[in-house]
Amino acid sequence: MQAKPLHYRRVLLKLSGEALMGDFDYGIDPAVIKRLAEDVIALRALGVEVALVIGGGNIFRGAGLAEGGMDRVTGDHMGMLATVMNALAMQDAIERLGGQCRVMSGLSMHQVCEDYIRRRAVRHLEKGRIVIFAAGTGNPFFTTDTAGSLRAVEIGADLLVKATKVDGVYDSDPRKNPEARRYDHLTFDEAINSQLGVMDATALVLCRDNNLPLMVADINVPGLLTRLVAGERVGTLVTRENQA
Ligand code: UDP
Repeated sequence: MQAKPLHYRRVLLKLSGEALMGDFDYGIDPAVIKRLAEDVIALRALGVEVALVIGGGNIFRGAGLAEGGMDRVTGDHMGMLATVMNALAMQDAIERLGGQCRVMSGLSMHQVCEDYIRRRAVRHLEKGRIVIFAAGTGNPFFTTDTAGSLRAVEIGADLLVKATKVDGVYDSDPRKNPEARRYDHLTFDEAINSQLGVMDATALVLCRDNNLPLMVADINVPGLLTRLVAGERVGTLVTRENQA
């Protein structure tokens, strides 16, 4: 039997920190991170080069800490450090399943992981290693969504996947409105102007200006990543141009 053609060669998956929590209120559910690691390894096994950006919202968010009175930049540093913890946990889960993985951080911490160096990251991917980009962009006042689009553009990914708890982008919140309609497709301009909460504007503009397609999909769909690269429409696709 002939293998299905792959629609994407290099994919960056953006996971929110909350995706790691499962039903916990905080931190990491080991069963959830194991399942996510299995999905990522299955994608790699198809021959797709895989990079990950993981958020830190299951531990700390700078904006939340600032609301409590903390200096915003300090809060953002804590948020970025939270993403490094998540990245290390994911690296561990991937390696325990036999995958090869490297964590590269936007903030230097040589005893813990590699620095982010674009050329080295691309080399890791070419060698079949799964690369996790940690510490966001390395700068306060940004989000890991923006880090996801920035790193995806830098490494020349074909697709950015934003994995969430909902199966795409809706015209209103499907948890509150049973009539909410899901979009199969949106342009970046529609996503930016309608403020549907797909990603923050900086992240969307980066994707739009660099013509990087974005897929918003539900991380809990079994085999999500392998189905995506086989060309199945399992979420909302956001592109620069309108699709006829
Ligand atoms: N953060 C930052 N700069 C970045 C990326 C992240 O300062 O480039 C901080 C920010 O405080 C953010 C936190 O790290 O709230 C965790 O990231 P994010 O909120 O994007 O995580 P997610 O919502 O995806 O779990």
